[in-house]
Amino acid sequence: MRRTLHLKLVLILVLLIVSLMVVVGAFLMNSVTGYYIKDFYSQTAAAFGQDNADFVRDLQTAREDEADGAAMVKEVLSAYEGVLGVDRRHRNFYVLDGTTGRYLAGSTPEPEGGVSVTPNISKALLGEMGVGSSVTADYMDAAIPIARGDQSYIVYILDNRETARALNTGMFGLIMEALLLGLVISILLSFLLSKTMVRPLQRLTDGIELAARGDFSRKLEVTSSDEIGQLTESFNSMAHQLQTTIADLEREEQKRKDFVANVSHELRTPLTNIKSYAETLGDGVGDLPPEMERKFLGVILNESDRMTHILQDLLTLSRFDSGRSELRLTRFPFSKAVDDTYQAILMDAQNHSHTVTLELSEWLPQVRADRERIMQVMMNIVSNAIKYTPDGGQITISAGMAGEKVWMQVDDNGIGIPESDRDRIFERFYRVDKARSRQSGGTGLGLSIALEIMRQHEGRLFLVDKDGPGLRIRMELPIAGPREEAEHEG
Ligand code: ADP
Repeated sequence: MRRTLHLKLVLILVLLIVSLMVVVGAFLMNSVTGYYIKDFYSQTAAAFGQDNADFVRDLQTAREDEADGAAMVKEVLSAYEGVLGVDRRHRNFYVLDGTTGRYLAGSTPEPEGGVSVTPNISKALLGEMGVGSSVTADYMDAAIPIARGDQSYIVYILDNRETARALNTGMFGLIMEALLLGLVISILLSFLLSKTMVRPLQRLTDGIELAARGDFSRKLEVTSSDEIGQLTESFNSMAHQLQTTIADLEREEQKRKDFVANVSHELRTPLTNIKSYAETLGDGVGDLPPEMERKFLGVILNESDRMTHILQDLLTLSRFDSGRSELRLTRFPFSKAVDDTYQAILMDAQNHSHTVTLELSEWLPQVRADRERIMQVMMNIVSNAIKYTPDGGQITISAGMAGEKVWMQVDDNGIGIPESDRDRIFERFYRVDKARSRQSGGTGLGLSIALEIMRQHEGRLFLVDKDGPGLRIRMELPIAGPREEAEHEG
């Protein structure tokens, strides 16, 4: 990875430097040439302009006894060489015949083959100023017609652009040097850049490889707030989420395994009992006293009932789990449901010599709920109080209203629940004392079903702390009923 990324970086930087230099170089060289040309013409224009009236007058005014006008013109021009920028090497002036364009005098001797007639000279021969410039030509020139006495001349200034060319060549060399230096710097820089970019990427890759192998323990360090930093942060939160999801799944899986093991165990006990009693009965047909046979048959019936009970509870839970169980919501008076529960268990409570007190608030509203299910919850918690309180106990059922909710609370002074088990009694098949629960026909599913019913109603079922022995359990139900459930009034 490092190599390709580095190569790309080098390529990008090199391309950047080269294109930058080409653009800047072309622009600079073009500007220098342009400036040079412009300067030549503005210099010429200034020389022959209003500001230099003396110069023009000197050129045009012939002396009285003048024998060689061209030599005089040359003399004047020589005096103004500085103004014209004539250096006698790359820029020269010539005095040409105004009618033929022939060389008469100049800052240098006549060039070999004479002064070539340029478009500007042709123009001057016609009596006009020839100051046009051509971009393609490798020279610059200006031809100005002069009338001196009865003679006409052309002052011709020619620049072979050698200065501009030399300047451009020098600049080209400079640009090349800068390019080379830029390339060296960019390659060095690419090493540095690729290091700063590659290192966090490498760390990220290592982290991802670890995560792929299931190791989420290492949280990657976020060293920058740029895109790589954001990527690292996203990866960290993704790894965290994945970790919790996996943990949740594992917990669910463990719960499922426990549940299956519990179900098998719960069903095996009554089945074993049924089998052994049936075998005893079968082996001793005719030999057993009739009351013994009746007793054995009674046990078999009891155990079958128990199995039916467990299976019914399991079916209820499975319907809840799959979401197939819908609430049949109706409106009914809450106090009536509490009272019905009280009446229903009274006989059983009396059998155990319990004192049951009912404390109902004076007025309780109608609630919108599945009456049968709510009654199931109430019956479950009251029967638990009866079951897990030694005979002659005190049981109080109270109910009231708090805000938008109604509540029912059951208090007993029975065996209570040890602190360590309090969180677990709503779990499926969880029983503090298995033998005691089974003896009284408990399956360990009652409270988990009750909790599920309350959850469906958007209510609550929970243990309340209390002083003294026994247990206090409380259910709360929203008066208006659950918000999302479809209503089955009737
Ligand atoms: P079970 O069918 O065994 O009664 P539940 O789900 O109704 O199952 O209750 C779970 C466990 O919670 C019981 O086995 C019991 O150990 C404990 N429990 C429930 N109610 C009481 C109570 N009022 N006093 C003491 N323990 C209780």
